[in-house]
Amino acid sequence: MNDTVLTSWVDGQPLSNAGGETFAVTNPATGKTAYRVEQADEAVMEAAVQAARKGFVAWSALSAMERSRILRRAADLLRERNDELARLEVIDTGKPWQEASAVDVQTGADAIEFFAGEAPGLEGATQDLGGDFYYTRREPLGICAGIGAWNYPLQIACWKAAPALACGNSMIYKPSEETPRGAVELARIFQEAGVPDGVFNVIQGDYRAGQMLTGHPDIAKVSFTGESGTGRTVMGDAAKSLKQVTMELGGKSPMLVFDDTNLDDAVSAAMLSNFYTQGEICTNTTRVFVQRSVYDAFMERLLQRTRDNIVAGDPMDPETNLGALISERHMEKVLGYIESAQTEGATLAIGGHRITDGACAHGYFVAPTVFTDCTDDMTFVREEIFGPVMAVLVFDDEDEAIRRANDTDYGLAASVFTRDIQRAHRVIHQLQAGICWLNSYGESPAEMPVGGYKLSGLGRENGRATLAHYTQIKSVYVGMGPVEAPF
Ligand code: NAP
Repeated sequence: MNDTVLTSWVDGQPLSNAGGETFAVTNPATGKTAYRVEQADEAVMEAAVQAARKGFVAWSALSAMERSRILRRAADLLRERNDELARLEVIDTGKPWQEASAVDVQTGADAIEFFAGEAPGLEGATQDLGGDFYYTRREPLGICAGIGAWNYPLQIACWKAAPALACGNSMIYKPSEETPRGAVELARIFQEAGVPDGVFNVIQGDYRAGQMLTGHPDIAKVSFTGESGTGRTVMGDAAKSLKQVTMELGGKSPMLVFDDTNLDDAVSAAMLSNFYTQGEICTNTTRVFVQRSVYDAFMERLLQRTRDNIVAGDPMDPETNLGALISERHMEKVLGYIESAQTEGATLAIGGHRITDGACAHGYFVAPTVFTDCTDDMTFVREEIFGPVMAVLVFDDEDEAIRRANDTDYGLAASVFTRDIQRAHRVIHQLQAGICWLNSYGESPAEMPVGGYKLSGLGRENGRATLAHYTQIKSVYVGMGPVEAPF
């Protein structure tokens, strides 16, 4: 265990709490404490708000082009440090190195580069009114709060900081208590790139730190990533001071596999969307609907590839493609859903247990699990599991598939596999989901807006659409003649 205690990061430097309260961060692959972190207290929070206020004044006074140049340097630094940052993410999250080194840092850097490029292009409008006229300015909101989940810690911090900072806001970010390191590394990189102190601050801790953010009257916006239930609480708290919100929440997304599709591609996507990052991905299509005539062939390929191609073990081993779940508590929750699936009558086709052999002995590993004979009303088919548990369901026709796919309170993502171009778009247009993949799964380039319908969220991240969520419009009416008044 590393003896250094990680603290909050305020005004360009580490900041300790007064009382000395700390908590442990566990390496999920070993079950051992990796390091300790200080819980932010009220004084740390107030210092962060003061710093963010000062940071906002300096940062928003720069031209968008100047901010853009600095942010592009930050994106370059992230890419240069890919391997060391990816290693920290592996220790905190338990995900395989082969993923973290290829995806986590890169997609974070992409978002920063994308918004650095977009911000200078932010324009207002002007309208002639026959003499008088008005124009609009897109102004930053002020201090934005970011609250992150634990599955993609650095990437989530980047996805929130990138549009916020590009638009001229400052930010106070609270990472998940389980994965607190990536955000501080990002803060150091911003500083090195030339972002003024106070513009990006990190407060550490559990939900209490989050509540200090949502309750603070000087914070203009909360961008939250986490469970739908927590999102509703956060939004309720934010409403008390009428903060703007972005909500990136949970899902129970469908994949529709039609009988005319390339089955190998569909199986690849089903495996990616249930087993990548041990199934801890919000957009996972955990309800895989397969058309009856190709069901047997689909299952044969799926089970064979799940049996032959999964390598669980030390996440730092480049061969490992299945890592550990985030915590013992979360592993027990996932195993509980596996048990409930069997109790409610689903057939366990493969997996269904904790992995305890070899390098997995002390970590929180769960075998990739596939259930068949599932019905739409089973608990594990309805609720988000956030683990490597796939429900395969059979359908007969298109209308039935769409109806059942939409029969959920969530609406984050969906994936459709078919070679019929008209059916592809007809189906996608009827699906209630904010992110849809056609003959594809999981790609989320910085250019593409992502976010949920229904209980899966509000607002968008990435893509140009997000600029609107980090700015406010000021309308300026200009009178060119005398002021007429009846008085
Ligand atoms: P979570 O339990 O909802 O927590 C998310 C964050 O909120 C954590 O930092 C948490 O702090 C904090 N928090 C908890 N209660 C709070 C409160 N009352 N006020 C303010 N902050 C509070 O979610 P998670 O378990 O970390 O992440 C998994 C969930 O995130 C899944 O549902 C997944 O689908 C979702 N997710 C969504 C997206 C998306 O883009 N839609 C992306 C990734 C993940 P502590 O945990 O540190 O106490």
